[in-house]
Amino acid sequence: MVQRLLREGYLRTPAVAQAMRTVPRHLFLPPRQQRLAYIDSPQQIGEGQTISAPHMVAMMLERLELAPGQKVLEVGGGSGYHAACVAQLVRHGGKVWSIEYVKSLAERSMANLRSAGIPDDDVVVVAGDGSLGLEDAAPFDRIFISCAAPEVPPPLLRQLKAPGILLAPVGSRQIQSLVRVIKSPEGRLTREDHGGCIFVPLRGKYGFD
Ligand code: SAH
Repeated sequence: MVQRLLREGYLRTPAVAQAMRTVPRHLFLPPRQQRLAYIDSPQQIGEGQTISAPHMVAMMLERLELAPGQKVLEVGGGSGYHAACVAQLVRHGGKVWSIEYVKSLAERSMANLRSAGIPDDDVVVVAGDGSLGLEDAAPFDRIFISCAAPEVPPPLLRQLKAPGILLAPVGSRQIQSLVRVIKSPEGRLTREDHGGCIFVPLRGKYGFD
């Protein structure tokens, strides 16, 4: 899977490729889907939700410019796989907070992370509405949303450090653009469009109702 993502140009940075090589994706899938873990396709994880395709995870990891020591917030933890990959890149002082709206998925993702050997010092799973961010642990060096948002939720922009990077699929329920917001050291925001994508909808206060 990693060889293919390198060849196709989704993976560019050796540390990001190494992170994806390290995390066993099959441990984040329900037993019946495990044999499909290393093909480049999204998979059902229950409750009508999906784990993103590996190339989308690779693209997002690259665009987040992750480094050891960073504090990262993920909105839409799902299976825990994406958070596990991020954790490889920020460990040695860094940490990931992964918020998941569906309680049963949050519980399962915690079990997935532990079975992959990732301790809660590296990834903390929180059940709740991630469109509100996580005031208690803010501010974050990096924030990413793993579901489709009608707009970047304002609380997330406030909870982003200066400098900082936020990544979110923004658009309609059907199709979105991967939006990257860069916050400068002075707190100025710049917005970039990184192309089309399709994610399941964000729920909660700033999501689709
Ligand atoms: N990154 C995940 C895939 C996420 S799928 C992985 O690696 O498996 C998107 C997830 O976002 C779904 O599990 C959905 O339940 C969750 N979600 C939707 N709205 C949310 C919200 N407001 N807060 C937190 N999670 C939310």
